[in-house]
Amino acid sequence: MTPKIASFLASHPATPCLVLDLDQVAENFARLRAALPEAAIYYAVKANPAPQILRLLAQAGSCFDAASLPEIEACLAAGAKAEAISFGNTVKKPSAIAAAHAHGVPLYAFDSAEELEKIAAHAPGAKIYCRIAVNNVGAEWPLSKKFGTTLEKAKALMLAAPGLGLVPHGLSFHVGSQQTGTLAYELAIAEVAMLFTDLKNAGLPVQMLNLGGGFPTRYQEDVPEHDAFSTAIMAAMRQHFGNDLPDMLIEPGRAMVGNAGVVAAEAVLVCRRMPEDERRWVYLDIGRFGGLAETEGEAIRYRITAGEGATGPVVLAGPSCDGVDVMYEKTPYQLPLGLKSGDTVLIHDTGAYVTSYASQNFNGFAPLAEYYI
Ligand SMILES: *Cc1c(COP(=O)(O)O)cnc(C)c1O
Repeated sequence: MTPKIASFLASHPATPCLVLDLDQVAENFARLRAALPEAAIYYAVKANPAPQILRLLAQAGSCFDAASLPEIEACLAAGAKAEAISFGNTVKKPSAIAAAHAHGVPLYAFDSAEELEKIAAHAPGAKIYCRIAVNNVGAEWPLSKKFGTTLEKAKALMLAAPGLGLVPHGLSFHVGSQQTGTLAYELAIAEVAMLFTDLKNAGLPVQMLNLGGGFPTRYQEDVPEHDAFSTAIMAAMRQHFGNDLPDMLIEPGRAMVGNAGVVAAEAVLVCRRMPEDERRWVYLDIGRFGGLAETEGEAIRYRITAGEGATGPVVLAGPSCDGVDVMYEKTPYQLPLGLKSGDTVLIHDTGAYVTSYASQNFNGFAPLAEYYI
């Protein structure tokens, strides 16, 4: 936790709330840029779309990966230029494509013939890039099943694009979120490089490779440093592209904001469900529906603290009347034995994928309060 967040929390804001240190976001941006200067940074807005973050990044020179028209409009309102925005969702409403095109957004992702036809109809002349499905080995929050196509289909679609009045610009992939190793990037680069060659040989050279997001945040276990990713990525790029490197883009979401925020929560109830239970159940005022959606399957395991003292095992659950609103039952969490109702519990490194996942009014609970300092 940064000193700024610690002093803000000392004023005891009402919980649950996210407190996010914008200086940390600025530092994350600078570090990502320094680690991979070859790549343009397109911040994945969905990780945290707060206007304060978008303004800071727009001023710092970041570009943006937007998934919807409201995200595009949030970037524009924050001072981003339309040329700096990529419409990166492969699933877009025709009306959203048309509105983005009218705003001047130049770049559109797709992974199906049907989406390509939609883009052709509603954003004539746009630059398009095709998302390839790649191995998500090492990712704690995989994305491989829902998105991307094969090299073979991508080739046919890219070759069809000029005939539809579109500009075939490049290829993309996403190695899965909270990617804990470099192997998936190396495999993906090797795979897409073959298609770059194929397209060139077919008379359709494309110039851009979008390497997506995936760069991890340190939760409870160490993760490789940015430099380990950039070294592996650039080595793979040189091995497979030689001196003919395409323009590179990265779309960090989690790595830009994850470590910048802390959720302050309150223990609402601490009890043993059965007298013989060794573990106490700790019910917080935030749960799966209050923003901790990535605790689904216990995939993302946040660091959680609640003051000092000897600790014992706990199950962590949310405050709602839904049976799946249990964050951690299998992962062994420990909290102080003295923890009682009303005490503050801190959930660390929650700057990404928390506020944007908070539900609206489920059980009457308001969406998570947010402070950007
Ligand atoms: C979610 C997403 C990202 C960001 O992923 P992180 O793992 O948070 O870096 C980047 N690109 C696309 C297309 C995404 O959907």
